[in-house]
Amino acid sequence: MDFATARVYAIGLRNRFRGITVREGVLLRGQAGWGEFCPFDDYSDDECVPWLRSALEAADQGWPSPVRDRVQVNTTIPVVSPQQAHDLAVRSGCRTAKIKVADSRSTHAEDCERVAAVRDALGAGGAIRVDANGAWDVDAAVSAINDLDRAAAGLEYVEQPCPSIDELAAVRRRTHVRIAADESIRRAEDPLKVAVSGAADVAVLKVAPLGGVRRALRVAESCGLPCVVSSAVESSVGLAAELALAAALPKLDFACGLGTISLLSADVTGNSLSPVDGELTAVPHAPEPELFSYVAADRETRDRWLSRLHRVAALLTDAERNR
Ligand SMILES: [Mg+2]
Repeated sequence: MDFATARVYAIGLRNRFRGITVREGVLLRGQAGWGEFCPFDDYSDDECVPWLRSALEAADQGWPSPVRDRVQVNTTIPVVSPQQAHDLAVRSGCRTAKIKVADSRSTHAEDCERVAAVRDALGAGGAIRVDANGAWDVDAAVSAINDLDRAAAGLEYVEQPCPSIDELAAVRRRTHVRIAADESIRRAEDPLKVAVSGAADVAVLKVAPLGGVRRALRVAESCGLPCVVSSAVESSVGLAAELALAAALPKLDFACGLGTISLLSADVTGNSLSPVDGELTAVPHAPEPELFSYVAADRETRDRWLSRLHRVAALLTDAERNR
C-alpha cells in the first residue's frame, strides 16, 4: 500500500470537544477521490482499523448511490445559558436541536432551563433531543428524562442516557421517551446486540468507526432500527462520507448530526459542507482539499500520524492491503 499522497492536517476547534482543542487527521487520495482517516487519540490501533477502511472506501471505491439529495441536520446546543441556547437555536435555521445535558458544568435545573429555552426558540413544530453521553445510572436517568421531557414539552429522544446496553434497556422499560444508542453502537463489538436486547428505539450511526458507508448500511439494515447519522467532527472530506450514508439509507426519519463543520475553525476546502436552512445537499464525492496548505500539520504531528497510519494499515487483511 502506498500512502505517498497522505496529507496530515491539524485544525483548531472553536470549543473544547471530547477534551481536545485541535482536530487532527490524514487525507488520502485514491482513484475514486479523497478519504479521511481521523480516529481520536484514545482509540487503540485495533479500534482504528474501521476508520482506515472508511477512508479507503472513499478513496478507492466511492459510495453507493444516494436515494435523496437533501438531508436535514440538527443544531447542537452546548452547555450555555438559556439565552445563548435560545439564540443559537434561532440562528441555526434548523428545526431540530440536540442539547447536551448531564454535563459536570451544568446542574439538572440548568439543563431543564436550557431545554425550555430551546423549545421557546423552535416553537411547537421543532424537535428537541438531549444527549447525556452515558452520564446517568438507571434511576437518575428515569427521573431526569421525566423532568427534561416536561421542560421540552415533549422530547424526540434521549441519546445514551447510561453507559451500558443493559442499563439502556432498563431505562427504556421505564420511560415513554425514545432511547437512542450512540456510544453503545460505535464501540460495541456487536452493534446488533443493541437492537436485539431491546435497549434502544433509535441507532446513531457514524461511518468512520463502523468502517465505511457500505458497512454502516449493513449495520442499519440488520439492526432494523430507525437510524440517525452523526459525524465524528471530520473536515468536509470525512464529513462527505457521513453525508453519503445519510443520503443512501433507505429510510431516514430524523434529522442527522452532520451540521458540524462550524465546530472547526477552518476547513480543507472552500466548498465546506455547511447546512443551508437546516439542510445539507448530498455530494457525489468528497470535495477537493484545495485549501490544505492552510491547515497542514507541523512535522512532529505529521510523523506521529503517518506512523499511526502505517501501524493501522498493517492490521488490515491481505486483500485490503494489496488493493
Ligand atoms: Mg451522542
